[in-house]
This record gives sequence, C-alpha cells and structure tokens, in this order.
Amino acid sequence: MNAQPATKIQEERPYFSHSSISTFRRCPRQYFYKYALCLPEEHRSSALAFGSSTHAWLAKYFRQRKDRGSVPEAQELKDCFVDSWNFELDNPVPVLFSEKETADSLKDTGVKLVDVFLQNQPKDIGKIIAIEEKFLADITDPGTGEVIEEEFLGYWDLVTEKDKVFTIWEHKTGARRYSTSQLENMLQLSGYGYAGHSLGLGQPSLKVNLLIKTKTPQYQHLSTTRNEADYRDFIQTVIGVLASIKAGADYPVRDWWCQGCSYAAKCTAG
Ligand code: SF4
Repeated sequence: MNAQPATKIQEERPYFSHSSISTFRRCPRQYFYKYALCLPEEHRSSALAFGSSTHAWLAKYFRQRKDRGSVPEAQELKDCFVDSWNFELDNPVPVLFSEKETADSLKDTGVKLVDVFLQNQPKDIGKIIAIEEKFLADITDPGTGEVIEEEFLGYWDLVTEKDKVFTIWEHKTGARRYSTSQLENMLQLSGYGYAGHSLGLGQPSLKVNLLIKTKTPQYQHLSTTRNEADYRDFIQTVIGVLASIKAGADYPVRDWWCQGCSYAAKCTAG
C-alpha cells in the first residue's frame, strides 16, 4: 500500500474526522460541547460501546487471517467480545441503554453475532493489507485549488487488495439493515474512499460488514463504489461544515436523538 499515514502526522496542524463532521451536521450545539469545549460526557451510548466491542473481535479475526491464513475459533472471538464489553461497562462514564436493552441482553446479542458472522464470513477477499489503519489526508478545495488547513483523520477498519484493486471495509453495527439509498449516500464511505484515492489506493471499492442487533441477529455484507462527483460532494460538505464552525454556529437541534445525548442535562439547563 502506498499510503503512509503514520509518517504524515503533523500534530500542529488542525484536523477533522468523520465523527466530528457528522456530530456538527446532527447538532451544532452537541459539536460545540464535545469538540470546542471538550466537556466530559455524562454517559456513552450503548450503540457506541457495543460497536467498539464488536470492532475488537473483528480486528482479531482479520488479524489472524492476515498473519496465519486461518480463522480463530468462535469461542476465542466470543471471549474477546465479552472481555471488551466488560471493559466498556467498567468505564467510569456509564453506558446509557435504551428501554428495550440491558447489558446482559446486548452481551447475548454480541455473542450470537460472532456465530452469524462466522457462518457468513466473506471469502475471496484477496490479500489483507491493513487492519485498523490510521490515515491523514489532505483536502483540496475544488473552488480555489488549494489544500485547506485541516487534515482529514480517520481509521480504515480493513484494507484488502485483489487483482490490483484495493477495497476499504467498514465494520458497522446497527439496529436494522441498510437500504440502497443509505449505502449510496453514506458520507463516511465517500470520505474514506476519497482518502484512499488521494493516498494512493487508486479508485478503491468500498464494503460494509454490517452486524445487525435484531432479536435474531443478522449479518449484511454490502458493496459499493464512489466516483469523482462523490468525492467532490464530500469535500463541499466538509468545507461547508468547517466554515460554519469557524463562523461560530452552535445552535441546538432538538430531535429524537436528544434523549441519548451525552450533554442533555447541560443543554437543557442552558
Ligand atoms: S440535547 Fe439535543 S439539542 Fe442539546 S446538545 Fe444534545 S442533541 Fe443537541
């Protein structure tokens, strides 16, 4: 792989992530609390904690495939999930659960998802190039032709190469299957594809491993691509958001997500 993100790090240079951009797009006030004021969170969402624990065993799975050409035993992966889940629960910042879930019900779901994934594990993925790879990419403003001040920071969950085509994989957990429209419009995929393209991965293909937390857990394997127009859309979104942040936008957007917001108490107190 030509990308050498670790050597590009320049700590003095400001950066943004997909997470920071999506937080601002959902609620500028939440962005302000989290990224401008760096306030401690009142709690963490169960979705984030669950996603983090799922990433842990998926990384272990692909690491063994890469290093030894074999697949870990199911029990090893389940133990990895449970250890990570317990670690999340031990965090001093409490995990916030929805009415329909508990720590035990999600642990049960997470363990079952290991089996569902192993029964449907992706085959013929080619050579594994990188796992949980950090990248930093420049963003060029199409209007001025200049590189903007902020770098784009992210992590590719998995990068593979087959027949000289690179594929960037995202591991996701969710409550339901993705629609075609959702897949085609995921800003994160456009951004990660753009980063791959600009860091020497050609025109990468994009895949999502979606582990679904339904009563009977499911696995959805999705494939898509992005082109120059999608990259331009991504850049225009980023530049627009960064301009709004610099202009001081920090208004609240009250909607269903407020009930899970890590800053709800501070926000409603004013
Ligand atoms: S409670 Fe709602 S409006 Fe307030 S910061 Fe959180 S998401 Fe935004």
